[in-house]
Amino acid sequence: MTDVLTPIHPVQVAPKVGFVSLGCPKALTDSELILTQLSAEGYQTSKTFKGADLVIVNTCGFIDDAVKESLDTIGEALAENGRVIVTGCLGAKTTDGGENMVRQMHPKVLAVTGPHATQEVMDAVHLNLPKPHDPFLDLVPQSFGVAGIKLTPRHYAYLKISEGCNHRCTFCIIPSMRGDLVSRPIGDVLMEAKALFEGGVKELLVISQDTSAYGVDVKYRTGFWDGKPVKTRMLELVQSLGDIAEPYGAWVRLHYVYPYPSVDDIVPLMATGRVLPYLDVPLQHSHPDVLRRMKRPASGEKNLDRLQQWREACPELVVRSTFIAGFPGETEAEFEHLLDFIREAQIDRAGCFAYSAVNGATANDLPGMLPIELREERRVRFMAVAEEVSAARLQRRVGSVMQVLVDSAPAMGRKGGVGRSYADAPEIDGVVRLLPPEKISKTLKVGEFTKARIVSAQGHDLVALPI
Ligand code: SF4
Repeated sequence: MTDVLTPIHPVQVAPKVGFVSLGCPKALTDSELILTQLSAEGYQTSKTFKGADLVIVNTCGFIDDAVKESLDTIGEALAENGRVIVTGCLGAKTTDGGENMVRQMHPKVLAVTGPHATQEVMDAVHLNLPKPHDPFLDLVPQSFGVAGIKLTPRHYAYLKISEGCNHRCTFCIIPSMRGDLVSRPIGDVLMEAKALFEGGVKELLVISQDTSAYGVDVKYRTGFWDGKPVKTRMLELVQSLGDIAEPYGAWVRLHYVYPYPSVDDIVPLMATGRVLPYLDVPLQHSHPDVLRRMKRPASGEKNLDRLQQWREACPELVVRSTFIAGFPGETEAEFEHLLDFIREAQIDRAGCFAYSAVNGATANDLPGMLPIELREERRVRFMAVAEEVSAARLQRRVGSVMQVLVDSAPAMGRKGGVGRSYADAPEIDGVVRLLPPEKISKTLKVGEFTKARIVSAQGHDLVALPI
């Protein structure tokens, strides 16, 4: 490998920017925007610090472990490269004394920005590493046209529909880092989706902080797509994404959907296969008093009834959710309410954190902080129940035939491979382990679909025979 581009007239080496992306899918899409802009301006980018003229670290500042990982990465980049620009959620964080946390811990960084700050990051890059002026370099192609560069494998991509959040959950500091909800214009979102499908994406993952709230900030303004008016609203967004995905045979998967009545209109679209019958609904708890203390969106909704209605309307529906065990003041009875809820609601995929105080979150001041050991004990009890429910639901799939999107297939799948069904989002859910096909003519290819007969369930995963 060489750092020098293929010689063109005149011979010129493009400045090289090392890039490290930490954090959640929302941070990943910020990284993609910055990388797209860097590439469009003729910078080379790499995933390593070595040989780079400067390094950008996109950080996460949500929980203490993420803060530590981000600070350590900045330290490593400074030690190995020395010229570092920091962006992302940690960049917006201040210490108890009101100082910028990154600057205090690493005073040698060149610049620090908060999240969703492509232009500020580019300004800092221009200042410290002037942009190349070669017209040939300015024509470096972008991987997905208007959708820019993606950091995910070519066959799936995250589509961010909004920034920020209007809620003020007491355990969360995201609104103080990312601000209030700002919905992207629907025409832009749909144009990006189309470009991604054209570029080979087979699974589009819709993300935001609150997907159900899309368009609230612009009063569901009417935008335009393909010459037709379309409202900036979740229902129209999902309908349009389903329409755009259809000719490509691609999947659309919805994340961060709150159980508002408006979602009732989305579920029929899942039943007809317009979008995947999969909902990532971050519930966090089931007990109304805990939800009130958390100040959760839709805390007054009857979540169990709603989930049951959704399942009646769409029996294939898979529900993923995350929960917090040991929230301040949580009584044993409230916790058991949560365990009962998991059993009754039959949550297919559940994740759980033991409550951990996040610097700056208002929940830290709530009375009744539980001992760490008790929070952890409840997390373990929660996971035991959640895994029991999940395993039983997976077991029901044995014998069925499912459509599987192939993520990995060495030797064209002759030795088997790994894929996912509609029930498995990348990175967070289980996978489908594909056995070597019995038919000699059958091959598996990354980014393509295959039908597979489920032969067993193992932990969070399924084992299947491609047919
Ligand atoms: S909905 Fe609550 S947890 Fe989610 S980003 Fe908004 S404030 Fe944070």
